Amino acid sequence: MNDFFAQFPAGAKCTRCKQPPDIRLRSHHVIYCSSCFLHYFHTAVKRAMRKFGITPEQPVLVAVSGGKDSLALWAALHELGYHTRGLHISLGIDGFSDASIGSIRRFAEPRQLPWANYSLKEVLGCTLPEIRRRTRRKMCSVCGTLKRQLINRLTIQEGFSAIAMGHNLDDEAGRLLGNMVRHRSEYFERQYPYLPSTHPRLPSKFKPLYRLEALEILTYCKLNRIEPVAARCEFARGATSHSFKQALDLLEEAMPGTKRDFLYTYLENRQPPQPESPYGTCRFCGEPCYADVCSVCNLLDRQAGPPNL
Ligand code: SF4
Repeated sequence: MNDFFAQFPAGAKCTRCKQPPDIRLRSHHVIYCSSCFLHYFHTAVKRAMRKFGITPEQPVLVAVSGGKDSLALWAALHELGYHTRGLHISLGIDGFSDASIGSIRRFAEPRQLPWANYSLKEVLGCTLPEIRRRTRRKMCSVCGTLKRQLINRLTIQEGFSAIAMGHNLDDEAGRLLGNMVRHRSEYFERQYPYLPSTHPRLPSKFKPLYRLEALEILTYCKLNRIEPVAARCEFARGATSHSFKQALDLLEEAMPGTKRDFLYTYLENRQPPQPESPYGTCRFCGEPCYADVCSVCNLLDRQAGPPNL
């Protein structure tokens, strides 16, 4: 994956401070030196946090996978003075899960940042590869279902009522395009960077990187010497969300700023989703859900007993 570092002719000047530039942001029609790029990046996160109404006095739990987005998010919030704690869920995937934990440890230790590591095996009794043998469903969809519910449960268990997620502008714009192409209007309501809690056992979720592109985040990681996990998840092949992001990348290449405009014009004048009709409770695990049995218990074909939490 490329980043936004560029070569400039002698005499070129940073748009903001007039020093020699290092970075070109085509979608903004600006060139920045490294320190002005960091200022731009932190300002984008700060503006998002202000929009969500979260001040530096409030401790923030950050969902960390070990990838570039979650580590950049954690770094930026830490730099902005937030008191943060990381939350990682280890999926038990050979090579990938240990490498992810290693990246988080190398990031958190020198900065003395606390984090909690839970494994799927301990919490649900099986790893993701073990679940794969029991289902024909696409693994990224299975993984998403599991992580969504576990993040909810563990956030509450960790004593927080909200959690910061590392979704970036590309993720949000790609998801919006996918929902539009498939006419999934029922998902539009939740297409928002801040999702308020709709149940005492469901934390709010917010996405402070929604104003920043994937390549801006990669550039930020390089400037801060953050080393995201390099190993790839063995189940990563063929996720359809990648195709929608690639389609937007093509448009962005031809018309810089398109991705940003596409998402921002959609979000303009929209309000955070409102609490929905009251939830029921899963009869097996007691988690909030719409039906009689939650999606995780359905997936695991759980017939008795609460999960190991
Ligand atoms: Fe989960 Fe898919 Fe990501 Fe692998 S690639 S960690 S299965 S969402």
